[in-house]
Amino acid sequence: MQGVPSWVFVLVGVIVSLVSWRMPKFMFFFYVGLIFIVVGVFRLAQSYVGGGIKKDIERLDKSLAKHPQVTFCPRCNIPVYVTSNFCHHCGTRLK
Ligand SMILES: [Zn+2]
Repeated sequence: MQGVPSWVFVLVGVIVSLVSWRMPKFMFFFYVGLIFIVVGVFRLAQSYVGGGIKKDIERLDKSLAKHPQVTFCPRCNIPVYVTSNFCHHCGTRLK
């Protein structure tokens, strides 16, 4: 279920609940729909609150690990290679 987007859970849940609503025979499906909505909303909240930030940090860590020789320009504060003589953004002399 990892590859299924969270909004699909919510959508399926809403549709199933709406279709089985007012049909006593299908009350079971109504509850299944509710579970889908809860799972979908939970996953959405999780990915927005925790996952997004965590992914950003992981991406940053990976890009920094790939370029351990990176430093920051003293003037515009963007990452530059320690081997560069000038900042490629503002042109400040680094050495
Ligand atoms: Zn700069």
